Amino acid sequence: MSANVNPDAGARTWRDLPAAQQPEWPDREALHETVAELESYPPLVFAGECDQLRARLGAVAKGEAFLLQGGDCAEAFDQVSAEHIRNKLKTLLQMGAVLTYAGSVPVVKVGRIAGQYSKPRSKPTETRDGVTLPSYRGDSVNGFEFTPEARTPDPGRLKRMYHASASTLNLVRAFTTGGYADLRQVHAWNQDFVKRSPSGQRYEALAREIDQALKFMHACGTDPEELKTVEFFSSHEALLLDYESAMTRTDSRSGKLYDVSGHMVWIGERTRQLDGAHIEFASQVRNPIGVKLGPGTTPEEALTLIDKLDPDREPGRLTFITRMGAGTVRDRLPTLVEKVSASGAQVVWVCDPMHGNTFEAASGHKTRRFDDVLDEVKGFFEVHKSAGTHPGGIHVELTGDDVTECVGGGDEIFVGDLHQRYETACDPRLNRSQSLDLAFLVAEMYRD
Ligand code: PEP
Ligand code: MN
Repeated sequence: MSANVNPDAGARTWRDLPAAQQPEWPDREALHETVAELESYPPLVFAGECDQLRARLGAVAKGEAFLLQGGDCAEAFDQVSAEHIRNKLKTLLQMGAVLTYAGSVPVVKVGRIAGQYSKPRSKPTETRDGVTLPSYRGDSVNGFEFTPEARTPDPGRLKRMYHASASTLNLVRAFTTGGYADLRQVHAWNQDFVKRSPSGQRYEALAREIDQALKFMHACGTDPEELKTVEFFSSHEALLLDYESAMTRTDSRSGKLYDVSGHMVWIGERTRQLDGAHIEFASQVRNPIGVKLGPGTTPEEALTLIDKLDPDREPGRLTFITRMGAGTVRDRLPTLVEKVSASGAQVVWVCDPMHGNTFEAASGHKTRRFDDVLDEVKGFFEVHKSAGTHPGGIHVELTGDDVTECVGGGDEIFVGDLHQRYETACDPRLNRSQSLDLAFLVAEMYRD
């Protein structure tokens, strides 16, 4: 599909504008060499796949499907292993099965995966015991360890990000198309989990019903191919514009630009300045684009974002990922939804119930309460219900591992438990059981 040529000039227009949250690379020459090398690499995803996702999201915008987007806050190079990737995928597939079956709605599945290596930070530096070093900005930039060596930005990491994304995506494609994601495996995704956990047991009951339905269909003489594989897409925050623009290619079919580092990319709350480089970059590529909207977002900002990113008002092109906080969603979201609807734009509305609900526990751990997460999703559904718009999906930070990073949920993790398995390199994630609990509760809200 895409010619392996240097990116079109259109991918570089962002360079004339201020770009927030970019690392201070100590060696610009090394950065330029890395960018030139990345420009010669093969695409990680195809333009046609990005178009497919845009069409699926178009169905979400029209109220005909639901988006499940989830994965780590920050992926890490040392977690690119079959086990970690499989566990994450398994969790997302289980959540997808719950939402599809219990919510009776087609679910578009998108991972925060295979590229989610770069983090915006609230402070550029971090001080510990009188020592000040650059903040950790994700494995694509520097190391997590608090030493001058690790924290110095190294452009060589951009190539490692590409290779880590490639091997992750390769395994994801193998899992989702090679039989593992076959709906007849719906029990197998739960096997290591069911006995220990209430949500695992609840899932098992639902899986039995799905099994029955499949057997019934089989007995009726139908065995649809669609149930044997899963359509799964990748996404990440398009934060490091040197990397994203180096990964932009002209699609030979249409002559249009695509960021081939992932199917969908989003612009974060800290980098969505209307006249900034990130929005300019996103406006130049044809991928489906997400934008995070925090509680301070004005309707005028939202409308300008639509004009810049979705001038043709194409359902599926633009997803607004709102992250207002449980306490504010019911106050702040209604006006945004009302003004955007009145403009005639058909955006996808997705709830990120994580980023407005983070707090620091007395132990110093950054955490979130499961009940706040749930309450924000509830508020999101309430607002859309009264506006007559579609609550299009959820965007969550989760892992397939049994971590103790968020408090609450069916397994009752308490603040005092957080130290037990607190493994995130950035924000606290729902563990597998909390993720499944959430899927069941969201399916109920969807059905009601
Ligand atoms: C994130 O998604 O990890 C993130 C930093 O979110 P936000 O831009 O909404 O703060
Ligand atoms: Mn995060």
